[in-house]
Amino acid sequence: MKEKLNLFRESLRLVWNSTPGWTFANIVMSVLRSIFPLLLIWLLKVVVDDITKAATALPSTPNINVLLPIVAVVIIWFLDEASSDFSNYVRKKQALKLEVYMYGLLHSKAIKLDLINFERPEYFDCLSRAAREAPWRPNSILNNLVSMLRALLSLLLMTGLILTLHWTLAVLLLVANIPGIWLRLYYADMLYNFQRQQTPEARKSAYFNWLLTGDRPSRELRLFGLGNYFISLFKKSFLKQKEEEINIIRKRTLIELISNLFKASALLITLLFIAHQTIRGKLSLGQMAMFLLAFRQGMLYIKDLFGALAGLYEDNLFIGDTFEFLNLKENVTAAEPVTESLPLKKKIVLDNLSFTYPGNNFSTISNVSFEIKKGEIIALVGPNGAGKSTLVRLLCRFYDPDSGNIKYDGSDIRNIDPEEYRKHFSVVFQDFMLYNLSAGENIRMGNIDEKSPEGRIKAAATTTGVHELIDNLPYGYETVIGNLFDDSRELSWGEWQKIALARALFRDAPILILDEPSSALDADTEYDIFSRFREIVRGRTSILISHRFTNVSLADRIIVLDKGTIAEAGTHDELMKRGGIYFTMFTKQSSRFTR
Ligand code: ATP
Repeated sequence: MKEKLNLFRESLRLVWNSTPGWTFANIVMSVLRSIFPLLLIWLLKVVVDDITKAATALPSTPNINVLLPIVAVVIIWFLDEASSDFSNYVRKKQALKLEVYMYGLLHSKAIKLDLINFERPEYFDCLSRAAREAPWRPNSILNNLVSMLRALLSLLLMTGLILTLHWTLAVLLLVANIPGIWLRLYYADMLYNFQRQQTPEARKSAYFNWLLTGDRPSRELRLFGLGNYFISLFKKSFLKQKEEEINIIRKRTLIELISNLFKASALLITLLFIAHQTIRGKLSLGQMAMFLLAFRQGMLYIKDLFGALAGLYEDNLFIGDTFEFLNLKENVTAAEPVTESLPLKKKIVLDNLSFTYPGNNFSTISNVSFEIKKGEIIALVGPNGAGKSTLVRLLCRFYDPDSGNIKYDGSDIRNIDPEEYRKHFSVVFQDFMLYNLSAGENIRMGNIDEKSPEGRIKAAATTTGVHELIDNLPYGYETVIGNLFDDSRELSWGEWQKIALARALFRDAPILILDEPSSALDADTEYDIFSRFREIVRGRTSILISHRFTNVSLADRIIVLDKGTIAEAGTHDELMKRGGIYFTMFTKQSSRFTR
């Protein structure tokens, strides 16, 4: 209970922080709107009574002015309508501000989170629940709270009015609505648990939907004729979720019918009572109209009140998902004592590193130790799955090793602020990014803070052999590349790779890591880049991962990884003399060209 109240308080804090002014306006408008209906009912009674009096008055009685109450009714009716429209506007505006605020929180959290989270399916479940609920749930809490207060206030006023008729009617008004509220609470729990359980299935159907509609899968899907197969997988997954949900809603609808029968009985008793009292002359026509309206209005307020209460209960269940995501802890941070992040002076030492991905029962990296000296070119080679890319991720501190450590000029990288530490690295990842932005921006992404980057962007593009291509695009470096937006130009995979390389070179970081940087490059460009490799890296400490041994052989030192451990290390000549894995891989590859 305490935890639920905390969530509640936290949500209201979020709503208030997102836009205090509009939140206040929303509350004020809601309170105002609870007063007008009551005023209207009372004024209607006055109008009916005055008109009845005027119609049945003897000529001798003084004139009864019915105009004044009629005008008052119209004014209050207008104010009620106007406040409803204005209140709608205020609500929308406040909801928009909150949505922007919540997206800000979600996105800021997502970019800070430890990358290890992306290895866990539970993380994606948590993210998808938070993304679904965060933009609107806190507001729903506020609106339900305001509706509850408004309905309570109005209900108290209406009940006071009905009490003047007979106390049992006021009790009846309350009791008739109890089955309805119980039902909503019961089904709120049921629906929440159901939706939580269904998150993995919902992600699965979203994935099949992407396979059917996305750009990337579209070619294989057509070629292999996979469309109907994915349609059937989507349908199965989608129906599995929805049929269960419809079942729950069907049961709820049936039972709601029964709860409405209770309300209808209460209405019947009240109508009979009011009719009886009016016929016996105990109520004037105006009073009769007033009580009828008051009872109907009271029913509506009770529905609103209990609806808001049940809504709050439901909100509280769901908002927990948002806080679960926002409160995920980051472990890749700077541990005390924090060391300043300075450019590399001497060396990076990897000492006895071991690492296992979550969910795997084998180590991807086992007891790996080696040094990278400043200015050295190191090549990492080894069969697929040897752990090369994982080692790069550990080096960039995307994950922390399970044991061992990485020392950067003698400081454990755990003691350096990760964001500052990563500024020393420039990397072309195997799965580099394609940004559907201008060609120039695609390169500038390497250092978004650079103030006047034009000259250096062109220089980087020239080095990787992509300048001419960009220059000939319709708007040169301003041309949007990719195929998502109007007026954009799609590039070939190799051209994208040249742009990714240019991006990495544009970032003037002292350590350069290239993970399979030439897998899609044409032979000319590859030859051009690697024959000038030292000139291009300009003394930067470089780590090259490649399966092309002609490129690898230019490194100062070659580390051969196999099944997560270092199998051998040395210069090209040393490893060739040794006749081990490197020798075998090199000769196998070169024999294909010398036959
Ligand atoms: P390649 O030459 O094919 O690029 P690699 O040497 O770079 O391979 P890694 O990508 O580091 O190899 O992967 C090493 C092993 O780690 C894989 O065989 C796989 O079992 C495991 N692995 C890699 N990425 C993940 C991941 N995200 N989650 C779980 N296990 C992973």
